[in-house]
Amino acid sequence: MDGLDCPSCGSDDVRGERNPGGTITLTCQSCRTSWDRVPRPSCPRCGKSDVEEYGAQEWEYDDPAAGEKDPEAPGRARGGRTFRCRRCHNTWGQAR
Ligand SMILES: [Zn+2]
Ligand SMILES: [Zn+2]
Repeated sequence: MDGLDCPSCGSDDVRGERNPGGTITLTCQSCRTSWDRVPRPSCPRCGKSDVEEYGAQEWEYDDPAAGEKDPEAPGRARGGRTFRCRRCHNTWGQAR
């Protein structure tokens, strides 16, 4: 399975709609449950999807003092996400 079954009723009669932000909204045609999915990125250079995400760019902590002590402190990314291709080692960023 490719992970597109309905999480509510298990039906695979699911329709996807791409959003401007890059996510896909999936709607189950059986029970009308809808959920968002972030598509797996693929490398813009070699086209493989053997890609790892390695951290957000320009991470901004809610409380900068807490962020100095604890890198897992709550916050949000300002600059989008960064990816790296395991095949050709290309790296690129994606704005949200
Ligand atoms: Zn369903
Ligand atoms: Zn690549």
